[in-house]
Amino acid sequence: MALLQIRNLSVSYHTGSRMVTAVNGVSLDVEEQDSVGIVGESGSGKSTLAMAILRLLPGRTARVEGEILFGGQPLLELGEQELSRLRWKELAVVFQKSMNSLSPVHRIGAQMADIYRLHEKGLNKKQLRERIIKLLESVRLPARVYDLYPHELSGGMMQRVSIALGLMHRPRLLILDEATTALDVVTQGQILREMMELERELRIARIMITHDMSVVAVACKKVAVMYAGHLVEFGPVQDVLRHPLHPYTKGLLQSLPSFKGAKDNIRGIPGSLPDLSLPVQGCVFADRCEHAMPVCRQVKPADTAYSVSRRTACHLIGGEEHAAQ
Ligand code: ATP
Ligand code: SF4
Ligand code: MG
Repeated sequence: MALLQIRNLSVSYHTGSRMVTAVNGVSLDVEEQDSVGIVGESGSGKSTLAMAILRLLPGRTARVEGEILFGGQPLLELGEQELSRLRWKELAVVFQKSMNSLSPVHRIGAQMADIYRLHEKGLNKKQLRERIIKLLESVRLPARVYDLYPHELSGGMMQRVSIALGLMHRPRLLILDEATTALDVVTQGQILREMMELERELRIARIMITHDMSVVAVACKKVAVMYAGHLVEFGPVQDVLRHPLHPYTKGLLQSLPSFKGAKDNIRGIPGSLPDLSLPVQGCVFADRCEHAMPVCRQVKPADTAYSVSRRTACHLIGGEEHAAQ
């Protein structure tokens, strides 16, 4: 059984008289020790999907439907107490601005110690300090960071602290939401390599949300492509890069210089995301798809298995007999 099983998940935000469906019928599995990249343009629902898994959506405005099983437990049905047992310890997250959640007036070490004690009690002060310094060193930060305040760290150092926090309790699943996006390419590459090494050692699975397909190419085994709240393609990264199935994935790859060579070959996908407050009729990508057929405007393409490991939702590909799940 997969570590994380997402089944037909939909999330809509209700603000005033407007309802926006940010995630629409997504099904996805993450195996133990797997690494899954989630890509898609801004507003496609990536963070909303992550927040639903983490149960961090605003309860008053977000409506969630579907099912999420984590280690067999129904995440959406757990009470606060059960959830707090899972957070950090089994399910951890690093956001782009995770460091903003640290207090500016307390030293890094003291704050990490507080988070450590949430799940592991019984260490004395000296042992705790040693444990945290070891953790800082595992993300290649010097021991002196323990005594620094957040504002005394560079952006790269702050992200390393955030990743150290995410790894602190050796979670079974780590979710990174644009966690390395703001860093320069060299620092980003270094952090990714170190993180992958630690993951292997600690047997951690990872979901990595990013705009950057080249990050997914080096740091993930599988990729899920989202468009306007829908999961339009899923499969092993190398297969999807070499032979994308969905027209949106093809467009995404064509707009990347590293995959198409010369800079003047870069072209974005014309048009923009549809209005997420309107019901979807037919294929959600139809307005921007150069292959759109009459059926695309009338019938929603099913999330369909193309092979054992690949899925896509497009009328050009697959057949009803292969319908996924
Ligand atoms: P980005 O790449 O810019 O981070 P994303 O793929 O993570 O984008 P989301 O942040 O999940 O996208 O947003 C999906 C849709 O849901 C957007 O239309 C957004 O405006 C809307 N949305 C997100 N959070 C809320 C919220 N708290 N209340 C209302 N609408 C929201
Ligand atoms: Fe394009 Fe039709 Fe496929 Fe949608 S279903 S991506 S409109 S070809
Ligand atoms: Mg986001």
